[in-house]
Amino acid sequence: MNILVINAGSSSLKYQLFDMTRETVLAKGKVERIGMETAMLTHEPADRPELREVSEIWDHTTAIRKVLRILVDPKEGVLASMEDVHAVGHRVVHGGETFSGSVRIDDVVKREIRRLFDLAPLHNPGALTGILAVEANLPHVPQVAVFDTAFHQTMPPVSFRYAIPNVFYKKHGVRRYGFHGTSHQYVSERAAQRSGKPLDDMKMITCHIGNGASVAAILNGKSLDTSMGMTPLEGLMMGTRSGDIDPAIVPFAMDKEDLSLGEVNSMLNKHSGLFAVSGGMGDMREIVEAASEGDRNAKLAFDMYEYRLRKYIGAYAAAMNGLDTLVFTAGVGENSALLRKTVCERLTFMGVKLDDAANESGTGGDRRISADDSQVDVWVIPTNEELMIARDAFREASASSECEGQANPDSTAPSPAL
Ligand code: ADP
Repeated sequence: MNILVINAGSSSLKYQLFDMTRETVLAKGKVERIGMETAMLTHEPADRPELREVSEIWDHTTAIRKVLRILVDPKEGVLASMEDVHAVGHRVVHGGETFSGSVRIDDVVKREIRRLFDLAPLHNPGALTGILAVEANLPHVPQVAVFDTAFHQTMPPVSFRYAIPNVFYKKHGVRRYGFHGTSHQYVSERAAQRSGKPLDDMKMITCHIGNGASVAAILNGKSLDTSMGMTPLEGLMMGTRSGDIDPAIVPFAMDKEDLSLGEVNSMLNKHSGLFAVSGGMGDMREIVEAASEGDRNAKLAFDMYEYRLRKYIGAYAAAMNGLDTLVFTAGVGENSALLRKTVCERLTFMGVKLDDAANESGTGGDRRISADDSQVDVWVIPTNEELMIARDAFREASASSECEGQANPDSTAPSPAL
């Protein structure tokens, strides 16, 4: 079975095509600048050089059509015909309290994704546009929605509620939802597998630290707490996002700098974090380099980033009353030996002991970087959210086609419980 994974944003769309018999990627690519004359399709077949094509692409439906055409192109393609796309999995950022797992998309699911626009105005509209665009091009192919928030739906009220009046939760859904769920789930399952231990008997902390960053406390395989909140702004310091701040700073900044709500929102999301503290660098590689050359602002940015991450790890170990496995993933987590070393060297009180050589060597692939006598296993596990989405789409599409087969081959599949 071939699964097409789509991650659609407001003006871009990324795709990966998987052959699920061996879980291999046949091709991947993206369409950028949708809605402009100079939209660009980048297509990378697994066994041939990358191809780039600039053309007018005014909407997502046309973008998907372009992607499908290139996938079946006699020269650049990897499929004989569009019928070889057997199901499509979509990354959807916000599933609210409705979705605690992946679901086959039907009218009810689409309506619900639309209802959640309020909670993820920057993300959910793009995902729905992608779903409708696939529907327009491949009307008979099953589509599955995989939510960033779903894995964290196991959080208890003690972690997900904010200490503000009930009306905000009851009427407006103001609570912690958490994000990067697909990644936290993937790396936690993989770490358990690689350690040969049962996930349902582990106290694990997973650190997904890339441009966006979040930590999760995973107790017995279930998300107990996570640092991102109602939106992906809360928690760790990130590339351009502030992470945790005193909420009173918002009205204060509005008053002192005469800013509108929208301007404060943009300041906290796009002009804060590493970027703000370092004085214009949002990329961790640049910061590490500048700090090593004596740039004090870059050094402070790195130190704050590390300190805040370490505080969360300490807090989540306390939340679980212990820790046996710590996992690093995403751009910074997978690639920065310096960040991992700085964090782990200051967690010796919890029994963390790094194997310096293992931390410095190995690139790519899963690797254990703790010493043999460390009380906490420390792992670097490259995340693979697309594979996780493909697996869920494969499972949900197979399950519902079996249902259809058993019930009545001509009937529409029943919509799964939300
Ligand atoms: P996104 O959240 O956009 O998916 P990624 O997971 O790709 O982000 O992570 C991007 C971040 O990873 C950037 O800040 C980049 O500097 C950082 N990064 C990548 N390679 C390295 C490296 N070798 N050392 C330090 N940071 C790195």
